[in-house]
This record gives sequence, C-alpha cells and structure tokens, in this order.
Amino acid sequence: MTSYDVIVIGSGAGGGTLVRHLAPSGKRILLLERGDWLRREPQNWSAADVFVDNRYVSPDTWYDSNGKSFQPQVHYFVGGATKLYGAALYRLRAEDFGELRHHDGISPAWPIGYDEMEPYYTLAEQLYQVHGARGEDPTEPPASAPYPHPAVSHAPRIQELSDDLAAAGHHPFHAPCGIMLNEGNMPYSTCVRCPTCDGFPCLVHAKSDAEVLGVRPALEHPNVTLMTNTEAVALHTNASGTTVTEVVVERDGARETLTADIVVVSCGAANSARLLLSSAGDAHPNGLANGSDQVGRNYTFHNSQAVLALSKEENPTVFQKTLGLNDFYFGSDEFEYPMGNIQMVGKSSAPMYRGEKPLETKLAPTRTLESMARHAVDFWLSTEDVPRPDNRVTVDREGRVKLSYTPSNEVPKERLYNQLKAMLADIGMHEHHLIPRHAYLKNEIPVAGCAHQAGTCRFGTDPETSVLNVDCRAHEVDNLYVVDTSFFPSIGAVNPALTAMANALRVGDHLLQRMGTQPAHPEPARVD
Ligand SMILES: Cc1cc2nc3c(=O)[nH]c(=O)nc-3n(C[C@H](O)[C@H](O)[C@H](O)COP(=O)(O)OP(=O)(O)OC[C@H]3O[C@@H](n4cnc5c(N)ncnc54)[C@H](O)[C@@H]3O)c2cc1C
Ligand code: SF4
Repeated sequence: MTSYDVIVIGSGAGGGTLVRHLAPSGKRILLLERGDWLRREPQNWSAADVFVDNRYVSPDTWYDSNGKSFQPQVHYFVGGATKLYGAALYRLRAEDFGELRHHDGISPAWPIGYDEMEPYYTLAEQLYQVHGARGEDPTEPPASAPYPHPAVSHAPRIQELSDDLAAAGHHPFHAPCGIMLNEGNMPYSTCVRCPTCDGFPCLVHAKSDAEVLGVRPALEHPNVTLMTNTEAVALHTNASGTTVTEVVVERDGARETLTADIVVVSCGAANSARLLLSSAGDAHPNGLANGSDQVGRNYTFHNSQAVLALSKEENPTVFQKTLGLNDFYFGSDEFEYPMGNIQMVGKSSAPMYRGEKPLETKLAPTRTLESMARHAVDFWLSTEDVPRPDNRVTVDREGRVKLSYTPSNEVPKERLYNQLKAMLADIGMHEHHLIPRHAYLKNEIPVAGCAHQAGTCRFGTDPETSVLNVDCRAHEVDNLYVVDTSFFPSIGAVNPALTAMANALRVGDHLLQRMGTQPAHPEPARVD
C-alpha cells in the first residue's frame, strides 16, 4: 500500500488551493475527490439544464430539523462548488476579524487578525487572477498589492446605475471578479464575457475556479496524485486517538484504506462535519475531534435574498456581476447594526424563474417570463447570519445529514432590502420606471441554498469552544487539519471563497514548515 506525506480530502476552494500550494514541495500528495471531472459539454451554458434540471447539483438528500427532506445545493466535482460559483472574490472586511455587535447578537472575533491573513489574500488574488479596482469601496481593508488585473468594465446599463448611485452620494465599486477576461485584447481573452457565468460551469475554462487554477496546475507535478470518484467515509486513529492512521474510502463500490502522515479534510462545511462525526471510535466516541461537542455547530450560510428590480427600460446587460455596494455593511445613521453587502448577480433568464419558482411559474407563458428577464436588473443581498451553536449539522445512524437551522438577523436583512429600494427610487428607478405591481421580486434563499455554507469546525484558541487551533489543526488530533469554509468562526457579509483560498495558503505554509520544506509561493498558472 502506498503511503503519502499528505492526503487532502476534497478539491474545492480549500483543498484545491492547498494542493496547488503544496505541489512544488515534492512531497507525495494524494487528493481525494468524491466527484468526477465536470464534463465540458454544451449543457454547461444551458439555463434549462442547469437551473430547471439541476444537472450539476448532487443527488444528495439532507433533512431539516423537522425531518423534512431537501436536495442541498452542493456540487461534487473536481473543483467543488467553485465550478458553479459566481467568482465574486471578496476579502472579508478587517472589522470582520474582530467582534461585531449585530442586531441579533455577537459575531465573534477570529483568533487571528486581518493583518495575518492579508499576505495570503494578496497571494490568493494573484493565483485566482482577480480583476478589481482598489480605493472605490470605503469599507475595503488595506491591501499590500494592487489587484493583479484591471476591474471588469460595467455594461452600459450597469455603468448608468453606478453613475446614478455615485451622483446620489453612494459608493458603488467594481466588484472583484475571478474571470480571465482580457478586455484590452479580446481576440486573446480566455473569457468571452457570456451571460451564463454565475451558477453555471464555464465551458471554456475561463472562470478562476479551483479545478482550473488549483488542481490542474498541481497535477503538473509528478508527486501529486488525484483520485476521482473516491469518497472518504471514515478516518481511523491510533488507540490513543491522537493520530489519524487510516483514511477509509469508497471507490468503484469497494472500500479501500489509505495512509498518510498528515490528513487534511476539505469536503465543504457540512460534509466535513459529516466525515468527522461519522469517524467516531473508542478514543473519540462522539465523533473525531469532537470532545467538546463543537463539530457541526455554528453553521452559517448568509441570510441572503435575490432581488429583481423590473425596470421599464430593457436591461440588455450580458455579464452583470460587476458592481458592489457596501455603504450599509456596518449600518447607517438610522440603523446602528450591520446590514450587509449589495451586489449584482448573474443576469436572470426565463428558465431560471422556472427552476427557482416551479409552482408560481407553472402557468406563466414563456414569453411573459422572457419579457420579465429582459427588464430585470438583478441584485444579491447578503446579511451576516450570527453563528449559533444550535444551528448545526448532525448525522444519524444511517449516516444521513440533518441540518438544523434557525435564521437570524431578519431585521437587518429587511432593512437592507428597504435601503436598496429607497436607493433605487432616489436614482429614478421609481414607480413610473418600474413595471407596475411587480416592481420588485424578492427571492428568499432557503436552507437548501447552502452555497455559502461555513462554520462547522471553527478555529480558535479554546478547545472548549472550537474544533481547530489557529493553524486549523484539530485540537485533539495531531495530524488532522481542516481547510474548507468550516474553519470560519463567523462569515461576515461578503462571499466566502477568497477567504477559504487565502486560509488554505496560510495553512499550506504551516504544513510546508511542519514537513521541513520552505514555503514556495507558486507562480500564477498560465492559461492558454
Ligand atoms: C452557485 C454558487 C455560486 C457561488 N458564488 C460565489 C461567489 O461568487 N463568490 C464566492 O466567494 N463564493 C461563491 N460561492 C461559494 C463558494 O463556491 C464556496 O464558498 C467555496 O467553494 C467553498 O469551498 P470549500 O473548499 O469549503 O468547499 P467546496 O468548494 O464545495 O469543495 C468541497 C469538495 O469536497 C468534495 N467532497 C465532499 N465530501 C467528500 C468526501 N467525503 N470525500 C471526498 N471528497 C468529498 C466535494 O465533491 C467538493 O469537491 C458560490 C457557490 C455556489 C454553489
Ligand atoms: S463570463 Fe467568462 S468566465 Fe464566465 S462562464 Fe462566460 S466565458 Fe466563462
């Protein structure tokens, strides 16, 4: 049996980035991925296939606290959820690393400050080829380098919106985008600026996802092995429970056992908790690394809402996710608590409405939905959900995932929605510019919409209240690490992927030092 220096379980934002960082070390690295490569096929860019038929959503069934089943929005592929993500690659605000008082309670401080993460944010922005513009967003944290690529330009309708917002005293900014767009030389641009990006896989591999910019460059090193369609089902330890000695996997219907000096779990927040909880043994009767009953707790996923403003003018924008606004991130003169982030979301289309609201749209003629889509200006509002111990992932005897979740911060979420409406009214998108009766369509994101899941194995200094130490190593197990969004003690109100990537690089440096290798910052990948 081959033994490895490191086994990484899960190839998404955390695992894929970590493997790329470790690859040049020459250490024997095995990457396990339960899914397959996401096939490049015309359906990648078909809204009906992606949103109505859920072609790329896992067939899993999870259960809510009432035992009601649902299909979670999770994606089992090389690259994980980043294959489908909108690639809005934000840094958390510096204040998110400290304690923040919210309407519904405290968002706790992280055990490290923003300054410790900053160099890794810079490196992650370089690896993931982020396009952006510093200095436009007043809440932006300090950065040690400019964005590696210029901001993606706004389409005319979004530029108009940006200008109007700025003229009204707001601070719209160019959203940080992980797309390989070269607007100065479009014939050579990998990205073709299409309408099917946010929520879709990229057919031409121009999205900065963890397959294209994490796993593929890592596999250029002969010391890195990828096993696809290989699901880790349990981790076994030595008798004292201090070291993981075996990774048990299911592959082609058979069980196999793999070994490594270091084991890194990065299955996504819910599935990482599931793996640890399913790995109970004599030394860890309540689940691996779960002596203080923290594994699975403090699940967060943002209190999000998609809002369509139906403008009387058509909105012919193709790539819409270029604008953000954080003016209400920490509150306002009228409301002292944080409200969150406003950003554009991918341009909506008729099949998306059918996919998201099958009952409501069942009788609607397609041309009505198409007309709606032509007039829609689409926003995504994220309010931080406060971590709570009872919002948690548990696993029953049959290994089924139960996700118990009670929303928090409903008041700031509603305030943020009202701020958006007031702001749009101020700049002329008021009643006579909006389609009567349907001026705004709001879509609340249910528990199944777990795209931004985080927080089930939080890192911290106190083993009573955290699963991982500051290096993201389990307090109770010397060679076990977790590098997906599970480690977040709180989620902030911006998209989480860049923070998972940056942290994977930070933990990667720690692992390189532990293995006696110098941290070697890899060159950004060349994508032809
Ligand atoms: C539609 C959509 C849009 C999004 N848009 C954005 C955005 O614009 N910006 C942003 O920052 N974030 C966005 N996100 C969220 C972002 O993709 C995630 O935060 C990020 O990918 C999480 O990284 P992760 O490493 O925690 O998990 P993942 O990326 O989900 O990776 C987990 C991996 O582990 C594998 N796995 C699971 N269990 C096992 C097992 N037992 N054995 C082996 N492998 C296993 C999975 O197949 C998967 O590949 C979006 C997500 C979705 C779904
Ligand atoms: S906009 Fe660019 S990165 Fe996004 S799916 Fe289209 S081609 Fe790919």
